[in-house]
Amino acid sequence: MPVPDDLTGTLDGQGTTAAPASPGARGRGQGDLRSLTPAALAARVKAAGEPSFRAEQVFRWLHEHAVTSWDAMTNVPPRLRERLGEAGQGILNPLQLDTEQVSVDGTRKMRFRTEDGRSIESVLIPEERTAEEREELGAGGRDKLTLCVSSQVGCALDCGFCATATLGFGRNLTAGEIVQQVYIAAARAGRRPTNLVFMGMGEPMHNFEQVTKAFALLIHPWGAAFSPRRITVSTAGVVPKIGELGKLTPAPNLAISLNATTDEVRDRIMPINRKWPIAELLQAARAFPLAHGRKVTFEYVLLAGVNDSDADAQRLPRLLKGMPSMVNLIPWNPFQGPQFQRPSAERIRSFQELLRRHDVQTFIRTPRGDDIDAACGQLAARATPDVVQLRTPS
Ligand code: SAH
Repeated sequence: MPVPDDLTGTLDGQGTTAAPASPGARGRGQGDLRSLTPAALAARVKAAGEPSFRAEQVFRWLHEHAVTSWDAMTNVPPRLRERLGEAGQGILNPLQLDTEQVSVDGTRKMRFRTEDGRSIESVLIPEERTAEEREELGAGGRDKLTLCVSSQVGCALDCGFCATATLGFGRNLTAGEIVQQVYIAAARAGRRPTNLVFMGMGEPMHNFEQVTKAFALLIHPWGAAFSPRRITVSTAGVVPKIGELGKLTPAPNLAISLNATTDEVRDRIMPINRKWPIAELLQAARAFPLAHGRKVTFEYVLLAGVNDSDADAQRLPRLLKGMPSMVNLIPWNPFQGPQFQRPSAERIRSFQELLRRHDVQTFIRTPRGDDIDAACGQLAARATPDVVQLRTPS
């Protein structure tokens, strides 16, 4: 379903204004104002001969209110708006929402188009709180709304079970393109997501600089001010970057797509394992600093006859022994192409039961949005004729 062009809004879905027409194709990233840190924005403001407090005002419009038009920045003098937005300098809207599909289970998949005509996808997943969570959180415990964001156009990894891999690598997204997914999704949902996960298209650790910059923008008190505890970066296992991520203060949560219990199987389904085998990956996970009560999440895509045996279920607890961790079991979500199969519900349950017997905290992630190809590993931003078209530069 195509969405109207005037899609805008603040993080709580209020106060929308019309977006200006795109000034056409420009150098990606360099003019993307939403990618600028407060310090970089302050430098632009200074260069324009304006006092430094204007930088906070502009930053707040861009990240707290997430406006999509210059006119909406009512307390910013028009001369500064013009300077910042001058041709080639200031892209306000690095992404446009192209299409949106809503699943029968409420999951919402959004496809965005970049300035250079690429397509990426994000998925909003509403989840009701459990009775226990409600009790614990009291009246303030709103239903969970998780947004799964993309970090790259396509992906360079070649995981055999993942639809995004079939696209190959396009390019890294800018921090502005990453945060804009969050802002547009919040406007569409009418409320801000409670949790953000970098589990959409791409390998976040292959785009470390922009992903960590987006993280810094998203937690900034002048901006959306997300709690770092509500943001999770998921990796297929780029070991050196796990160490770097752990050095950030604050750091986001870490998720690791483990998906196998032997190097033999992991080498086959995730070629990155040939570079950083399971032992090295788990060593990096163990070294990741965890705040009190936090855990490393392990994702484990269940593939029938490949990684779902009793022996796997017995090896997994040994691999994770002593590490504060939990395991998300993800029954494989099909897409056209590979010859994998999802294990039976019974097999999945007994796999989980075996893990539990060894005190592994584990959840089965029921597929969400699979009727609209929005479930884990199904994001391929399939182009339809109306979206592959590049906008004509004006
Ligand atoms: N590159 C990052 C983030 C994107 S993949 C990473 O590997 O973690 C997000 C999650 O989806 C990963 O845990 C991956 O194992 C899982 N996944 C990929 N394809 C899948 C599929 N077809 N069915 C179920 N899960 C899948």
